[in-house]
Amino acid sequence: GRPGATACGERIALKANVELPAEAILAVDHGAEGIGLYRTEFLYIDRATMPSEDEQYEIYRAVLEAVGNRPVTLRTFDIGGDKFASTFQLPAEMNPALGLRAVRLALKEPEVFLTQLRAMVRASAHGDLRIMIPMVTTVPEMRAAREFVARAVEEVRAAGRTCRQDIPVGMMIEVPSAAIMADTFAREADFFSLGTNDLVQYALAIDRTSQSLADLASPFDPSILRLIHAATRAALARGIPISICGAMASDPLAACLLVGLGLRDLSMEAAAIPEIKEAVRRITVREAEAVAEATLGCDSATAVTETLTEAFAPRLADLLSGYGDEA
Ligand code: PEP
Ligand code: MG
Repeated sequence: GRPGATACGERIALKANVELPAEAILAVDHGAEGIGLYRTEFLYIDRATMPSEDEQYEIYRAVLEAVGNRPVTLRTFDIGGDKFASTFQLPAEMNPALGLRAVRLALKEPEVFLTQLRAMVRASAHGDLRIMIPMVTTVPEMRAAREFVARAVEEVRAAGRTCRQDIPVGMMIEVPSAAIMADTFAREADFFSLGTNDLVQYALAIDRTSQSLADLASPFDPSILRLIHAATRAALARGIPISICGAMASDPLAACLLVGLGLRDLSMEAAAIPEIKEAVRRITVREAEAVAEATLGCDSATAVTETLTEAFAPRLADLLSGYGDEA
């Protein structure tokens, strides 16, 4: 029940990643200060017809009401790649992860995209809602997505319904191009959220579903840390919020490193929140920054892990049982 904070008193917001509406209640039970990532893919999976605007609106509204006035970041559909959905009848591709996915699909299916956006915009009347665009790769893509949001707002208002006018529209940073161009994207997006699951896949060229390469797909690879660092600096320089919603945030050592890299907003599976809250309570920002600085100079994921382990593991021993058992 205590607020998330470091030993030196710096506030660290801990939020939940949610995939099903019922999990919103669970998130609050686990002490989430909001929903940092609401994945909407489930709405499109295993069904013959597209979800209607009304159906989606009721679900988004229920999620907002379940968490009271806490912030909720709804991500527009991230279908394609490893998230397959029959409703879209996607063409077979040699490399689906590099194919028609997420915002690319949304921009090719404007009616489906607009339907989802109108439902989100209508739900904005019931809480602190933000809209997040997945898999943004280029600036024109982000601009196009924002135009659709603006159009959805116009359509909702034209229908005589109430909604917020100034809904924040942010983007996932999960493709290396977005991290590299983060200073430019910081002028286009209202907030960033780091998707390290895909960032690792695309920066290290390792299929995120590959079992045989899972041990190489480490978010501690120095290239990933540099991408995170670049995006965080760009967000802070521009004064826009940045958070992380990749699975990395639910790892106690990684969470300490992320604080050192400048993150103050971590979103993860709800069950991990109490442990991560405890981990960050045992470190100070100053020492985390020094450790983060050292990791940026490392030449391998192994060296980063050693640096983190040496700095934090003795203090976090009770939180690290089973550490390294899962990716
Ligand atoms: C990510 O890529 O890190 C992320 C949070 O999105 P997803 O796992 O849904 O692709
Ligand atoms: Mg992703």
